[in-house]
This record gives sequence, structure tokens and C-alpha cells, in this order.
Amino acid sequence: MWRATVLTLFPDIFPGPLGQSLAGKALAAGLWTLEARDIREAATDKHRSVDDTPAGGGPGMVLRADILAAAIDAADASLDRPRLLMSPRGRPLTQSLVRQLAAGPGALIVCGRFEGVDQRVIEARGLEEVSIGDYVLSGGEIAALALIDACVRLLPGVMGKAESGTEESFSDSLLEYPQYTRPQLFEGRPIPEILTSGDHAKVAAWRKAEAEALTRARRPDLWANRQGTRKNTTDG
Ligand code: SAH
Repeated sequence: MWRATVLTLFPDIFPGPLGQSLAGKALAAGLWTLEARDIREAATDKHRSVDDTPAGGGPGMVLRADILAAAIDAADASLDRPRLLMSPRGRPLTQSLVRQLAAGPGALIVCGRFEGVDQRVIEARGLEEVSIGDYVLSGGEIAALALIDACVRLLPGVMGKAESGTEESFSDSLLEYPQYTRPQLFEGRPIPEILTSGDHAKVAAWRKAEAEALTRARRPDLWANRQGTRKNTTDG
């Protein structure tokens, strides 16, 4: 079973959106587990403080290494699974990293707040920094929700049809083709004829061409990456 443990100063944020729809049903069905642990439980002084001012000066507060290390040790003593720190400095979260995490035993996910966390706990507890994009959130919780959601939908039994995970955006470094459903005519716009032709080969060819055109136009970075990967594959 895939186990997510989240270390946060705001455990009430969880499960939040992960308690709804696909992820929520899977959680209720026991296909994965979620434990949100309050970092503050590891605080030792009477004010239960978890942060302090940055060494060297500057604005804001930094999460203390000793408190966070104690919280990690209490949560993860006997479990062997990736330990992640949500961080704008981290490795970008991509569908291939999501696939890799979903195939494993789960993850321990640390959510930063304030100016971030003391560097020494990152090193001492082997935290891998993961970013959900080039922008700054006020805390790691929304990033953790995004990461967990992306992983959970790939777990066996969570999505209705196995195929719905293999044909979608990024499955082959391509964005997804346009989707349509009834009504046949919407404000004068018909569904492309080919999609209602019943010719599966033609439908597949049309979808592939649309996906390629969209990817080239919108994400030249993905397109270049795809060309590179395919070249390497054919070159052996
Ligand atoms: N001073 C830090 C930002 C701290 S933001 C810096 O400039 O790098 C506070 C917390 O929000 C971070 O510790 C991290 O856990 C989370 N966070 C912010 N942006 C994020 C992003 N793009 N991806 C993942 N986590 C993020």
C-alpha cells in the first residue's frame, strides 16, 4: 500500500481536496494512506516554538533543524521510502518523477513555511527537494497536495480505465489532443467529423497529429526533448 506521511505546521489542511473524488474514494477504499503530522509536536520548549531568526540576518524565520529532525525521526523510524522537502529550489516535479514515486512505497513529505528550513536538516536526513514550479508559495502544503494527487491517480485500481493514464498529457512527452463530447453541435461548432466516423485508425492518426501540433506550438521545450529522446532510442 502506498503511504504518504506529511510533516506540516498545518495538519488540518489535509486531506482537503485529497478527500474528494478519485483520490478520496481510493483513500476510503484503503488503496493508499495519508498521515498528516504536526511538526509542532516535536517542539520541546514551553512556547512550542519551531522556528528562529536566520543566522546572518535578514527577514523572516527559519524552521529549526533539531525540531524538524525529531519530527522526521518520530514519523519515519522504520520505513524505507523517499523523503521529500517541498521547495522552490528543488528538482522540478514532472510526470516521470510522479510515475517513479507512484511505483514506490510512498513518501515522507516535509512542508516548509516562512523563509524555509535550516540547511543542516536537509543534509542530515537526506531530504530531496522537489519544486512544483517556478513561483513561490507561502508554504509547502499546496505543493504536497499536488504531488500526492498526481501520484495517487496512478496507483493500481484508482483510475477507472488503465488506458486513461497512458494516453494523456506527458505520457510520451506530448500534450493531450483536444477532447469533445455531446452535443454534436455547440454554438455552431461541430465535433470534428473524423471523431464521429467510427474509423479507429483515422481517429488515432488525427489525435496523434493534433497532439504533436499542440506540443510544438505550446511547449517547444517538450518537443525538443521528445525529438532528442526518440533519436537516442533509435540510435540505440
Ligand atoms: N525563501 C524561500 C521560499 C520559502 S516559501 C526561497 O526563496 O526559496 C515557504 C515554503 O513554501 C518553502 O519552504 C516550501 O516548502 C514551500 N514552497 C514555496 N514555493 C514552492 C514551490 N514552487 N514548490 C514547492 N514548495 C514550495
